[in-house]
Formats: sequence, structure tokens, C-alpha cells
Amino acid sequence: MVAHAHEPIVAIATAPGQGGIGVIRVSGRNLAPLLGRLFNTPLKPRHAHYLSFNDQHDQPIDKGIVLFFPAPHSYTGEDVLELQGHGGPAVLRRLLDRCLEAGAEFGLRHAEPGEFTHRAFLNERLDLAQAEAVADLIEASSEAAARSAMASLSGAFSQQVHQLDDRIVHLRMLVEATLDFPEEEIEFLEKYQAREQLQSLQADLSHLLRQAGQGMILREGLHVVLAGQPNVGKSSLLNALAGDDIAIVTPVAGTTRDKVVQQIHIQGVPIHIIDTAGLRDTDDTVERIGIERSWAEIEKANVIIHLQDIRAEENPLDTDITRRLPARTPVLKVFNKLDLAPGKPASSDSVLYISAKTGEGLEQLRQRLLDIAGWKPTSESPWLARERHVKALHLAAEHIDLAARHAEHNDSVLDLFAEELRLAHEALCSITGQFTSDDLLGEIFSSFCIGK
Ligand code: GDP
Ligand code: ZN
Repeated sequence: MVAHAHEPIVAIATAPGQGGIGVIRVSGRNLAPLLGRLFNTPLKPRHAHYLSFNDQHDQPIDKGIVLFFPAPHSYTGEDVLELQGHGGPAVLRRLLDRCLEAGAEFGLRHAEPGEFTHRAFLNERLDLAQAEAVADLIEASSEAAARSAMASLSGAFSQQVHQLDDRIVHLRMLVEATLDFPEEEIEFLEKYQAREQLQSLQADLSHLLRQAGQGMILREGLHVVLAGQPNVGKSSLLNALAGDDIAIVTPVAGTTRDKVVQQIHIQGVPIHIIDTAGLRDTDDTVERIGIERSWAEIEKANVIIHLQDIRAEENPLDTDITRRLPARTPVLKVFNKLDLAPGKPASSDSVLYISAKTGEGLEQLRQRLLDIAGWKPTSESPWLARERHVKALHLAAEHIDLAARHAEHNDSVLDLFAEELRLAHEALCSITGQFTSDDLLGEIFSSFCIGK
């Protein structure tokens, strides 16, 4: 959690390295004194100025565009200043230092990861689900994920949550009002058609849950372990699946050296493939750390592809490989090099025959993986969702179910019914951030990049 949320903050907002332009962003409640120190001309709000950025001795560091967004119409809801200079690490560092030096007496300090977005959330420029979508949009690894993250950012998900919540709150208001007049308790359920309202809430919640489930698959993807003996065609399969996937291949941190984890996409769904070829015994410390991390990845696996050469009998080595994998994870047996086999055995639910070389059977394999993930290519996934959102929706659904159970019994007390509605309301609010602990906020925003 950010301890000093009132101080002005500054950060380089563009990615490290060289680029055409680099942006420095400053946010604070009142940046007027800082502007006065940095520039000798007044800045027109939301207007591009081409100015020289000078150091404290009035020597130019760079020249570029300056934009000033006075509060509250800015990203953070505070005064925001953006300096767009040349995108080199040294020049940006100098600009950053110049800002820190000029702003020192106003308490200007370096921003923590996600702090700009955290302020936007605190100042109600975004709700929590939208703030999360900012990070998801930046991290999106496929066009489908980026499109859905943008939908979340625009509030498509939050709006549905709000609509459901409004209905729950309204129903609860009616109950609370009735509670003051105990003689009307029995009539309440009839009078306000409470059962019908609950039924329609249940239906809409489960629809939202299905959509959120799809949105979560699109964000989290599927973790696949590719196991098999040397030379059965694991690398060939990986390359064939990657095909003309324009995926940004992102090796898991720490495994860069042996590239044990690769990411590909199937219909925009990220598929994290762990190649067990990297999991050999080793004396190399660095490599061993990478391998330990890979085992941690394997623990998260949703499915194991056990690849074998169609021409070879299953042998003890295969048993040894599968023995080391978590028993609860489903195994998909895949026989490769179909092109070298005399006959054409037919694939079934648990066994697939493919050729990484000719591409035969790969479409079936892709489809099987999506099925296992629970992805429905026909169903739209309008927005991205996180596991946290799905859990909260489940919790809300449970409380609505309990409320419905209370409503079935006319003799039950209405305050229990009201209490379940209150708990469902709280669960929904945790998605958009009205009821969220500081710990959770800290966790969410600290995973952002610096300058966002
Ligand atoms: P890995 O050790 O399991 O990663 O196996 P590779 O992908 O390196 O493949 C081993 C050898 O088998 C290479 O010479 C590949 O060209 C060949 N290979 C892989 N898949 C097929 C296939 O489907 N058909 C044929 N004919 N050869 C294949
Ligand atoms: Zn402070």
C-alpha cells in the first residue's frame, strides 16, 4: 500500500530502452508551482506546447512536447503533466532527475508501480475492474485478449456487475422497509414478487459467470506440459503449433536460459507450453533454478500432452516421465509421425494421431486443447476477467441461492433473507472495488509496471 498518497509523483512512463519518443509523467494535487519552475511560459490546459526542457542552469536537456491536464480531467484525477522527449534512457533519466530536483521542495518523489492508476482508482476515474484492465491491456499477448481488455477498461464488465448489484440493493431496500412492519412480512414476498426477482437474478448471475469464465480463459490461458522421450518430435510439434502465430513469445522469468516455457495462441487463447526436454538432471546451479521453476509451472498444468513416436512401443522411459507428473492432471496421449506409419489409426477422445511434419491431426489437437480449457469459440468473450472476479461472482451467486431458499419458506424470517442479499451485494462490490482491503489493492497495483 502506498503510504504517502498525497505527494506529487513522477515516473518515466514509456518502456525502458531506446525509442522514438519517451514520456515522463507527473501527477499531483497542485502542479502549478512545479510548472513555474520548469517553464517560463504559462501552459494552456490540454494544449500541446513545443518547448525546451532546461536543467537548473538553464542549459537544454532536450526539446519536446509538453501537455498539462489540470485536475480533475486527467488520467489520475489530479493535475497531470506530460513531457514527451526523445526516447533514450540517458536523456529521460536527466529529465526525470530535473523534475525531481525542481519538485523536491513540493515533495515530488518517484512513483511506485501502478501508482498513477491507483490514484485514478482512488479519485474514482476508474473502478477496480477497469484499473485491472489497464494492466491486462498492456500485458495482452493476443489481439483477442487486447480487444477484451479494452472492453473491460471501457466498463463493459463493470456495467453488468453494477446492473445486477442495483437490483439486489433495490430488493434489499424493500425487505428492510418491510422489516419495520412485522405484520407485513408474509405478504412481502408476494407483494414484490421477490421469488421471481430472485430467479431472474440467479439466471443473470450464472450468465455473467459463464462469460467471466471465458474472459478468464482468455486472460490466464491454458498450461500444457509437453512430455516425451527425446526425438519423438516435441520441438517439431511446438513449432508446428506456433505456425504463423504472431505470438509474442514470452519465456517465463528465470527460464530464459533453457526456454522451458513457451507461449503460443490458439484462437487468441494463450497456451503456455512447458517442454519437459529442459527438465534434465543437471549440476549447473543456474539451470537447476530454472528447472525448479519449471516444476512449479508443471504444478499449475491443466493438461499433459504425452507425445510418443507412433512406430515405437511404449517403454519404461515413458512411464518414468508420467510418474513424475502430477497425478490429478489429465493426460492426452498423442502419437506423432503418423506420416511414417503404414496404417491410419483413428483418433479418439483420449488418443490422438498426428504428424508434426505434415500437419495432419494438428487441427484436432488444437480443438482438443481448447475443449479442455473450456473455451467455446462460438461464444463471445466480451471482456477479460480475472480469477478474483469469477470467485466473487460465485460467492454472490451462493448468497442469492441462499436468499432464494429462505424465500421458499414463508415462515422464515425476512432478516435472514436481507442478510444474504447484503452479502451478495458485498461480493459484487469487491469486483468494482467498493469493498476491497488495502492488502488486495496493494497486491493488484504493485503488479503494474512503473509509470502506469
Ligand atoms: P524432440 O527431441 O522430441 O524435441 O524431437 P524433434 O522435434 O527434435 O524431432 C526429432 C526428429 O523427428 C527430427 O528429425 C524431426 O524432423 C523428426 N520429426 C518430428 N516430427 C515428425 C513427423 O511428424 N514426421 C516425421 N517424418 N518426422 C518427424
Ligand atoms: Zn506523506
